[in-house]
Amino acid sequence: MSQIAKELLYTGKAKDVYKTDNDDEYIIKFRDDITALDGGKKDTLSKKGVYNALISTKLFEVLEAEGIKTQYIELLSPDEMLTMSLDMIPLEVICRNIATGSLVKKYPFPEKKELNPPIIQFDYKNDEYHDPMLNDSIILALDIVSQDALDEIRQITLKINRVLSDFLKSKGLLLVDFKLEYGFDKDGNIILGDEISPDTTRLWDVDTLENFDKDIFRKGEDGVVDAYRKVVDLILTDDEKDKWNVKDIE
Ligand code: 5GP
Repeated sequence: MSQIAKELLYTGKAKDVYKTDNDDEYIIKFRDDITALDGGKKDTLSKKGVYNALISTKLFEVLEAEGIKTQYIELLSPDEMLTMSLDMIPLEVICRNIATGSLVKKYPFPEKKELNPPIIQFDYKNDEYHDPMLNDSIILALDIVSQDALDEIRQITLKINRVLSDFLKSKGLLLVDFKLEYGFDKDGNIILGDEISPDTTRLWDVDTLENFDKDIFRKGEDGVVDAYRKVVDLILTDDEKDKWNVKDIE
């Protein structure tokens, strides 16, 4: 753990959040733990944390370059990210470009149907209630955020979808769907938080539609970490790989 980390604030299913000496900054440690099916399936997979930290860093940098505000400040070590401290909003903001996963289980969409415009869905981030899907009225009645904030979250999410879809397509990957979490900074601005990694997105090969994400684990198949590594190899530049000694990570 890096020198500036102070106090464990929160332990999630795959990450730990630490306070630092500076109230405006946290450190997020990406662990090797992986869970699925509402916590019913668990494992620890060596190097998964490092790969997710590297992938999230890269994707946050791509977004920042397009003017999207994220919590990301810098990667301190291969699995520790220095971030802005945020007051997190308990929403899982899901954006879908292709129908799959829970969407085809719950609604009569054909598997792999292209969704244009994309679907944006809000789930309540609440383990006790098993992350139920919300609508605007429920979000307002539960006083989670205001209508203006919700509208802004939708707009930012659509922009993120455009930027990441283009970037990933240029690297040979289809951005099928993903989950984002947002928070407020100390001035009340809405900022992208959490992570963007194969734990939270579905990524398919543009040609073969092969999966490179947590669906491999959800389905009980082998090769999850190899798939995450493949995403690192595809999206990081050679300089970024040298900086983090990616070739020595095994
Ligand atoms: P689905 O609703 O089809 O299971 O998931 C849609 C997308 O959101 C997928 O990319 C999935 O990884 C992500 N997602 C939805 N809920 C969660 C969640 O609770 N945790 C994580 N890590 N990802 C989620």
